[in-house]
Amino acid sequence: MEERKDFVIPDILPLLPVRDSVIFPKMVLPLMVKEERYIRLIEDALKSPERLLAVSLVKDPEKEYEEVPDVYDIGTACHVLKFSRGPDAALIMAQGISRIRISLIVSVEPYPQVKIEELKEAEYMDKEIEAMMTTIKGIYKQIVQISPHLPPELMHIIDTVDKPGTLADMAVSSLNIDRKKQQQILECVEIKERLKNVIRLLEEELEIQKIGRDIQEKVKQDIDKAQREFYLREQLKAIQKELGIKDEMAEIEELREKLKKKKMPDHVRKVAEKEIDRLSRIHPSSAEYSVARTYIDWLLELPWMESTEDNLDIKRARQILDKYHYNLDKVKKRILEYLAVRKLNPEHKGPILCFVGPPGTGKTSLGKAIAEALGRKFVRISLGGIRDEAEIRGHRRTYVGALPGRIIQGIKKAGSNNPVFMLDEIDKIGLDFRGDPSSALLEVLDPEQNHSFSDHYLEVEFDLSKVIFIATANQLDPIPAPLRDRMEILELTGYTEEEKVNIAKNFIIPKQIKEHGLKEENIQFSEGAIRKIIREYTREAGLRNLEREIGAVCRSIAIKVAEGEEGSFSVTEENLEQYLGKPKYSLDIVERVSVPGVAIGMAWTPVGGEILFVEATIMPGEKSLVLTGQLGDVMKESAQIALSYLRAKAESLGIRNDFYKNHDIHIHVPAGAIPKDGPSAGITMLTALASLLMEKPVKPYLAMTGEVTLRGLILPVGGIKDKVLAAARSGIKEVILPKENKKDLDEIPENIRESIKFHLVSRVEEALEIAIPR
Ligand code: ADP
Repeated sequence: MEERKDFVIPDILPLLPVRDSVIFPKMVLPLMVKEERYIRLIEDALKSPERLLAVSLVKDPEKEYEEVPDVYDIGTACHVLKFSRGPDAALIMAQGISRIRISLIVSVEPYPQVKIEELKEAEYMDKEIEAMMTTIKGIYKQIVQISPHLPPELMHIIDTVDKPGTLADMAVSSLNIDRKKQQQILECVEIKERLKNVIRLLEEELEIQKIGRDIQEKVKQDIDKAQREFYLREQLKAIQKELGIKDEMAEIEELREKLKKKKMPDHVRKVAEKEIDRLSRIHPSSAEYSVARTYIDWLLELPWMESTEDNLDIKRARQILDKYHYNLDKVKKRILEYLAVRKLNPEHKGPILCFVGPPGTGKTSLGKAIAEALGRKFVRISLGGIRDEAEIRGHRRTYVGALPGRIIQGIKKAGSNNPVFMLDEIDKIGLDFRGDPSSALLEVLDPEQNHSFSDHYLEVEFDLSKVIFIATANQLDPIPAPLRDRMEILELTGYTEEEKVNIAKNFIIPKQIKEHGLKEENIQFSEGAIRKIIREYTREAGLRNLEREIGAVCRSIAIKVAEGEEGSFSVTEENLEQYLGKPKYSLDIVERVSVPGVAIGMAWTPVGGEILFVEATIMPGEKSLVLTGQLGDVMKESAQIALSYLRAKAESLGIRNDFYKNHDIHIHVPAGAIPKDGPSAGITMLTALASLLMEKPVKPYLAMTGEVTLRGLILPVGGIKDKVLAAARSGIKEVILPKENKKDLDEIPENIRESIKFHLVSRVEEALEIAIPR
C-alpha cells in the first residue's frame, strides 16, 4: 500500500473488466486473468512506461465474456505491479491509482480501449470528517474482532490511515463486502458522502457479523448439549446394565418382605402382591414404575389393622376434660355420656358429634381432649373451601400425580385405624360440577356404609367404622341438611368477660408461660391487665386473639429473660402498652353516644356477634336520605321506614313538623368495610334519628335490636344469644329486645342475664321512652 510516484494518467486506457472485486485507489489486489485477449492487454500495458490500465467491474458476473464488456462507468486506473504467467492463466498484482469515469469505448480489437476522465477528489478535513473517521475506525475494529476470517493486524493498520478518502476505501476493500456495495462506494467521489455511506455499510456488516456469531455459538452449544446428553445416556445405560437390575430386584424383595410382615385384610394383600409382581416386570426408569411404586407404598403404610386400645375410664376422661377446659359443663357432660355409652356397648355406633360455635371457643381442644382421654390418636383435616369430591375420595390413579383423598391421608397420618378424626369447617364445604363433596362425606360418616369406604386412588376398601369422627362448624345453617341429620349438634357460645378472665388465669397464661420456656415465677399478670387485654386488644367471642396477645407478652418477657434480665416481671394495666403497643379497640361508648344522633345496635355475624354504632346527621339540602356503610337493601329499607315513621309521628314526639323540608338526612353505620344487612337494625336507626331530631342523646350503655314496621310495631329477630353476649363483652348494661324474643333469653348464660337489664318491647314508643327519656 505504500505510495508510489504521481502517475500521469492518459485519456485513453486499455480496459480490463473484472468479475468479483472492486479495486480502490491505493489498494493492491491480485487479479486472475484467463482470457487470451486480456493477457495480451496486460502484456502490452507492461511495455508502456507507466504500466497503466483501466479496471472496472462487469455489471453481471454471470454473463459470458463479451466482445464489448458491459462494465460500470466508474472504475479505477491501475498500475500493474507484478505479472506472472501460468499455463492457462496469468496473475497480476494491480495497484489502484485513482477513480476514473469511462466515457467512451474507442476500440474493441484486439482488446477494448476506453476514453477516460480522472476523478480527482478534494482532500480536506473538518470536525465532521474527523468524527466520521473515528466512527469508522471503531466499527471497523469491532468487525475485525468478531469476524473469524479477518487478521487482527487490520485493527492496527486502520489506525495508521489518516486520509479520510483512503480510510473509507480501505475499510470497504479489506472487508468481505458484496461487490455491488463496494462499487457504490467507489462511485462516491465526494468525501463526506463516501464516509457516510461507509459508516452505513460497516454498521450493516457489524450487525451481520454479530448475528453470524450468535448463530454459530448457538449451533455450537446445541451440538455440545446433544453430545453431552448422548454420552450421559450411554453411561447411564451402562450403569443401569451393571447395577440397575440388581437394585431393582433388591427393592422388590424388600417390598415383598414388608408385605409379609404387614397386617392387612386378605383382599388388600392380594392386590398388593399382584401389584408388586407387576412392578417387577416394569422398567425402573419408566414413569409407570414410580406410579406403581407409590401405590404399593400407600398399601403398605396404611394402618389397615393397627388400632390403639381404648381407655374407657370415665373418671379419668372427666379429669382430662376439666384439665383443659373451664366450664363448658353441658358439652363435657354430653361427651362423657357419649364415652360411657361406648364403654357399655362397644358395638353401638354413637352419633357423630358436631361442635358449633365461633372461632376460639374450644372446639379443637375438646376434640384433642377426647382423643387423649380415650388414648386414641388425633387427626384433623379442614374441609373449608373443598368443592371437589376427589378431595374427599381421591383421584383415580390414571391421573398424573394422583393421591388418595383427605380422609385416607388423615388415616395414614394418624397411623391407626381408630383415631379421633376431626372434620373442621364442615359448614364451609361447597359443591360444583366436580361432584358433591358432601355426599362423599355422608358415606364417610354413615356407620352403615363406612366399614367399606372406597377411595378412588386406593380402589381397595378401607374400614372407617372404628374411627370417631367429630365435626366442627362456625354456623349451623350452611351445613347441608343430610349431613346435619347425621350429627348431634353441641353448641359452644362465646365467653363472657368473667369467663375469659378465669380461663386466661387458669389455662391460657400457664400454658403460654410453659410454651415460651418461662417459669411461673418469671411473670405475673394482674387482673387489670388481663381485663385490659380482653377489652382493648381483642374483640371476639372466643379466645384466639386473647391467647395470641398473652403469647406476645410472654414472648417479649422471654427475650428479656434470655438476655439475662433477672427477677420477676409483672404485667399490669399501666405497663401493658410496653408489651402490646397501643390498644386496638377503644371502649369509649359513653363518649360516642354523648351527642344526639348516635345509637348502639347489635349485629349477628358468623363469628359471634358484635355491637355497632348507628350515626345520623342532618344538613341543609333537598329532602334526601343518604345511607353509607355498605348497607344491604333490606337495611336501607329499614332506614326509610324509620324516617317515614318519624315524619308521621313528629308532632307527638316533639319534633319540628317540617324537619324534612330543606334538609338532607345522612345515616352512617361505621366499620364500613363489613357489609351489613337484615332488618334487625330498624329500631337502632329509628332511635338514632329520633335522638337527632329531638336533639337529645341516647342513654349510654344501652344497645338494641329489632325490626320496625311502618306502623311502629317491633318484630322479633334472630341471633339474640350471640348479640347479647357481644353486648356484654362490650360493656353494655341495658338491652332493648322485641317482646317476642323473650323465649331466647333462656339460652343466655345465667351470669350474663344477671349483669344486663333487659327491656322487652313491642312498640316503637316504648323503646324510645327507654332510650331517650324525656
Ligand atoms: P376452636 O377450635 O373452637 O377455634 P380452639 O380449641 O383452638 O378453638 O381454642 C382456642 C384456644 O382457647 C385454645 O388454646 C384452647 O385451649 C383455649 N380454650 C378454648 N376454650 C377453653 C375453655 N373453656 N377453657 C380453657 N381453654 C379454652
